[in-house]
Amino acid sequence: MKFLSTRGQTPALGFSDAVATGLAPDGGLYLPETLPDLSGELARFEGLDYPALCFEFLRIFATDIPPETLRGLVAASYTRFSDPAIAPLKPLAKNLYVLELFHGPTLAFKDFALQLLGNLYAHQCQVRKEVINVLGATSGDTGAAAIHGLIGRPRTVIFILYPDGRVSPLQERQMTCTGADNVFAIAVDGTFDDAQAVVKQVFGDQGFRTRHHLSAVNSINLARVLAQCVYYLHAWLRLPAAERGNVEFVVPTGNFGNVLAGWMLQKMGVPIRGFRVATNQNDILYRLFTTGEYRVGQVQPSLAPSMDIQVASNFERFIYYSVGRDPERVRQVMQTFRDTGAYQFENFDRDTFSASRTSDAEIAEIIGRVHRDYGYVADPHTACGFKDVNPDRVQVVLSTASPAKFPETIQAAIGVTPTHPSLEELKARTVVKYRLKATASAIRSFIVARAG
Ligand SMILES: *Cc1c(COP(=O)(O)O)cnc(C)c1O
Repeated sequence: MKFLSTRGQTPALGFSDAVATGLAPDGGLYLPETLPDLSGELARFEGLDYPALCFEFLRIFATDIPPETLRGLVAASYTRFSDPAIAPLKPLAKNLYVLELFHGPTLAFKDFALQLLGNLYAHQCQVRKEVINVLGATSGDTGAAAIHGLIGRPRTVIFILYPDGRVSPLQERQMTCTGADNVFAIAVDGTFDDAQAVVKQVFGDQGFRTRHHLSAVNSINLARVLAQCVYYLHAWLRLPAAERGNVEFVVPTGNFGNVLAGWMLQKMGVPIRGFRVATNQNDILYRLFTTGEYRVGQVQPSLAPSMDIQVASNFERFIYYSVGRDPERVRQVMQTFRDTGAYQFENFDRDTFSASRTSDAEIAEIIGRVHRDYGYVADPHTACGFKDVNPDRVQVVLSTASPAKFPETIQAAIGVTPTHPSLEELKARTVVKYRLKATASAIRSFIVARAG
């Protein structure tokens, strides 16, 4: 299968090249040339365990990797999950389920995609006899998940910039206590935006980028979206048959990456009733789905920090389908948005989406209510998903992080401090971090000295 850019000004690529490239050279995002129709395959998928289902799904797309190789890469990607179900679906009440996506090594849903991406990168290095130096900036979860996807792998080195003093202490430990010699966690002066800007500058230097085989880690990689489709399918297959066609997935979201994957699966013929886009107080997507207007606002730090995003980087893929798969119109929409900070949509898939917005005060209140009503401890991101529980509809709330990653917020809400063995273990380890100025020259010399 081939993959096209949403902006249509660059040649189609095979799976491995699209994954290695990340952002298309024309600035667009890669999507499958055609979406397969899975409606005839669902009976065959019934009963497959997570790695087997993931393999069956991905082989439709990754046609340039020999099937037995792909099966091995997929199997290796889910060995470090602590729950045997990988993505357990737990009933909380009549018509209400929670889909736990936090049993991977960094206790957040990003492990589903980044464990796989790590294996795909390592495979590629081996086949092409190349090295890859991965570079990215993080506000916390993505960097930790990317590091744990590449930890200790031959021919790969990973450099992650984060704003010093502005990620949670546990997130920092996940990045700095790895003990691996191919991992460099770099604490820079300034904010996440400063770190991000420096990374962009370093990538902007084409010569440097090519010389050092730099590759980006960010939320728009094709492999991330496809890997995330699988847990929706796995959950759908575990619902009672009578509930499946009626299910609404409720997705705490910031970059529109998670919910996009579910929606694409629906477009592949899996009968899902709809999706609720659950934002925190950074509500650009809530405003979009309630008014049709996509307008950038100021980022307000919240209790659900991994959703503190105003420009949803994966949204361009949704735009592509919403404008009739016309790359020229995608370019117009993106240009208007860049020029004016806003775009008014005429029509998009309104029947499928609803939206909710949750303030910080409500997050605390919801954590308390969910604990009282269902005996369940939800992390602050997941709490946004419990905002509008509708008992008349089958709802599956995606739980994107372990509550143990946010002990202070949970303690304040319910008077209990959640813990997790993997986080406790980190507290005994040595922090290894590199403090650098947020300048392109400082980062470049650091990379030159340590690149693979
Ligand atoms: C990254 C993240 C999100 C948001 O995911 P998107 O793909 O950006 O929508 C939500 N919750 C947690 C815990 C995260 O780490």
